[in-house]
Amino acid sequence: MSTVLETEEHQALRAAVAALGKRYGRDYMTSVVRDGDHPRELWAEAAKLGYLGVNLPEEYGGGGSGMAELSIVLEELGAAGSPLLMMVVSPAICGTVIARFGTDAQKRQWLPGLADGSLTMAFGITEPDAGSNSHRITTTARRDGSGADADWLLTGRKVFVSGVDIADATLVVGRTEDARTGKLKACLFIVPRDAPGFGRSQIDMELQAPEKQFELVLDDVRLPADALVGDEDAGLLQLFAGLNPERIMTAAFGIGMGRYALARAVEYAKTRQVWKEPIGSHQAIAHPLAQAHIELELARLMMQKAARLYDDGDDIGAGEAANMAKYAAGEACVKAVDQAVHTLGGNGLTREYGLASLITAARVARIAPVSREMILNYVSHQSLGLPKSY
Ligand SMILES: Cc1cc2nc3c(=O)[nH]c(=O)nc-3n(C[C@H](O)[C@H](O)[C@H](O)COP(=O)(O)OP(=O)(O)OC[C@H]3O[C@@H](n4cnc5c(N)ncnc54)[C@H](O)[C@@H]3O)c2cc1C
Repeated sequence: MSTVLETEEHQALRAAVAALGKRYGRDYMTSVVRDGDHPRELWAEAAKLGYLGVNLPEEYGGGGSGMAELSIVLEELGAAGSPLLMMVVSPAICGTVIARFGTDAQKRQWLPGLADGSLTMAFGITEPDAGSNSHRITTTARRDGSGADADWLLTGRKVFVSGVDIADATLVVGRTEDARTGKLKACLFIVPRDAPGFGRSQIDMELQAPEKQFELVLDDVRLPADALVGDEDAGLLQLFAGLNPERIMTAAFGIGMGRYALARAVEYAKTRQVWKEPIGSHQAIAHPLAQAHIELELARLMMQKAARLYDDGDDIGAGEAANMAKYAAGEACVKAVDQAVHTLGGNGLTREYGLASLITAARVARIAPVSREMILNYVSHQSLGLPKSY
């Protein structure tokens, strides 16, 4: 494993999280999914050990570290076969946004619970008619009355929002109308799970994962004035502050899953023998596994760069690196899983070996939270200055 960008503390954290992951592992996750449950024991234990809130401020019960550390936690849990997808949203996006932009009261209300795992928050931006084009979202908040104390009424629809059933609240991206210009501006609202008018229906996914996805209908959901996170005029800035951690964490999710699949394939290729030597001695098997290993390592390097830039406060530099890391990790994950399944021959498709379901799961890292194509668009326009077709 490359350690060039990691301190001794990082390596110790990796080792400790890997040990925790090993105690749970893929069998645990499989049984949780089979029972339609949530990985509550692993979530609670990871939280108790300080791993879930490692990026959150110490004064609110967090570890006072950053995305470099939080991404190590998710990667290592994933490499052990037991990734916690809600880490991408709860401590990484929601925790970051509240820690950086929330009011003191919001910080006191949410951060200690997000850090110790007793509170979870989902994140809803995707809309059915906007999809990848988040400029097109129409979920709208209007004040019910005048003055800064007036309630908000939030109306709109969201889709594919993960974990709304277990989350105490969802951080919903909406828009408010500028009183002077009439223009709509992005804003973030904390919507409690049981708020009247906040309806959810589970989407029937092919994914075998404990985290479920929901379509949300917000029908004049009444929220107190302080449900708005931070400043109404700085919504976009606040949103972007949460999206870089989201991409870094999705990279960690993809790298962890890719490493898990690759390790299973390597184990198998060393022992499965149908000719004179184990199948891993055939270059047609060995080289694609070597390639998968290289691509996962490269993706990790870019993830580490993105995390370093983000933790150093360079939001703009981190934006490009986080997108590239998420792209690289998504592609490396999909390829590693595909090759792992192939390496096991027929066993790649059995329940016993449990790899085939990762083919679907790996695609999450390619499509969410921003698709491969939208990252290529971003790099074409932002990094290379090429003209836009849409
Ligand atoms: C398991 C899972 C969990 C998720 N969790 C959450 C969550 O917690 N919260 C949340 O808000 N969302 C969540 N999402 C939603 C996810 O972020 C979206 O699915 C993703 O942003 C893509 O949007 P879409 O599905 O509407 O695809 P579309 O935008 O309809 O895109 C469809 C295809 O067209 C391509 N495409 C679109 N526009 C262009 C273009 N300009 N150029 C080239 N290609 C283009 C895309 O790359 C994609 O391949 C989740 C999705 C999944 C699958």
